[in-house]
Amino acid sequence: HQSATIGTAWSAEEGAARARRLFAEHIGGGPDGVWAAPGRVNIIGEHTDYNNGFCLPIALPHRTYVAARRRDDDKVVLVSQLDDSVLTWEGTLDEIAPGAVTGWKAYTGGVAWALRQAGHDLGGFEAALVTCVPLGAGLSSSAAVECGVGLALADLYDLGLTDSDPGRTDLVNAARAAENEVAKAPTGGLDQTASLRTIEGHALLIDCDDWSVRQVPFNLHAADLELLVIDTRAPHRLVDGQYESRRRACEDAARILGVGSLRDIGDLGAAVAALDDEEMANRVRHVVTENDRVTQFVKLLDTGRIREVGALMDASHDSLRDDYEVTCPELDTAVDAARAAGALGARMTGGGFGGCAIALVNRDSRNEVATQVANSFRNAGFVHPEFYVVTPGPAALRVQ
Ligand code: ADP
Ligand code: MG
Repeated sequence: HQSATIGTAWSAEEGAARARRLFAEHIGGGPDGVWAAPGRVNIIGEHTDYNNGFCLPIALPHRTYVAARRRDDDKVVLVSQLDDSVLTWEGTLDEIAPGAVTGWKAYTGGVAWALRQAGHDLGGFEAALVTCVPLGAGLSSSAAVECGVGLALADLYDLGLTDSDPGRTDLVNAARAAENEVAKAPTGGLDQTASLRTIEGHALLIDCDDWSVRQVPFNLHAADLELLVIDTRAPHRLVDGQYESRRRACEDAARILGVGSLRDIGDLGAAVAALDDEEMANRVRHVVTENDRVTQFVKLLDTGRIREVGALMDASHDSLRDDYEVTCPELDTAVDAARAAGALGARMTGGGFGGCAIALVNRDSRNEVATQVANSFRNAGFVHPEFYVVTPGPAALRVQ
């Protein structure tokens, strides 16, 4: 069987050069600078964010690069290169608002609206965007654009938000508002927090109750490990309402159990016994055990036991498959094949019903794991998956 190809991220130099080239070709002249913001992958802690629980994402080495220039008027020019097509938009700041722009313009320009809503004084700008974050794969290309443009604007207009964690938290809120209110995608703040507040070489423990964070050393290289991301490219199925129904079950359960959120459940056995609805009890069991797995995972990382985290990844996937019921045949196949090929642990990541799985692998067995996963997809008649090897990269930053 042929071996699978594994995609790598652009270097900062390559990304910046591509962004500058696009800027020169479609806007003209040179930008004031180039900024880069990463996508993210969640290592463990799934469907816990809206239950005020814990999650543990890393910033990807895959980033969106934004070459931008300040203007003296209120004009806005947006250019984005996606594969072989170049998207362009020209307008004014006032024309970027909920209902006025949709789609890619909302994701890229919406943060300007959100920063102005938050009281910041902005003028016009020109921005050329290029990205090596795969779009729509669940690796948060949307947060990468929002955070990249947001950071560029904060720097160009000296908003004082780029160099401190409180400032970056304001940027998280603006990026999230762009996604929720302008792009109309009802997502939480996990993606933007990972993109803006992570330190290279670390996973970010996020407490989704108060959005406090802690940097947890995640040194794969020192342990001869790699993290393989498997984009299943599963077709979007009719999953409308599945996310909402899970959310509602969690809220209903919290109300029945008399807790503010499922995060506050102390005694899982008692909670499960108090619920008549078996499905609801299963949902609760996932959330409570998943929060516990995040805590255990972090404890292993804190004590230099990174090679022992695989069992927690496996347990997370099994819980998402059996109790939360958000996996799909492609995700289960990817995880099963990765484990069979020697991965230390594997799980789906993101919302589920498609998107990506991750596998923790010994460096020298990465190609074998990818090849076995690709073979199992071929045997099952699924489309060919994409593979990425990732390391914990830095948060959004100015690269030039
Ligand atoms: P994900 O965040 O998992 O990649 P989403 O559906 O949340 O998937 O976001 C994908 C959307 O974000 C795209 O359809 C597009 O509208 C927008 N987007 C992402 N990256 C870019 C980019 N570089 N240029 C323009 N639009 C982008
Ligand atoms: Mg997204």
